[in-house]
Amino acid sequence: MSCKCAEFDEDTGRYVCEVSGSGCMYFIPDSKQCAKDYGEGPDACEEEEDEG
Ligand code: SF4
Repeated sequence: MSCKCAEFDEDTGRYVCEVSGSGCMYFIPDSKQCAKDYGEGPDACEEEEDEG
């Protein structure tokens, strides 16, 4: 349960999404959930291994 597109912002104490350029929609970045819900995530950032 993580997302490599997420970057922690110490100023806000939240994660910033490199895909959207704004805050991550999840309190805890979850690339799988994000791909499911929004079609975003590492797949939209760059290729990652397939989960099968
Ligand atoms: S989980 Fe989705 S919204 Fe959050 S950082 Fe990753 S790609 Fe962005």
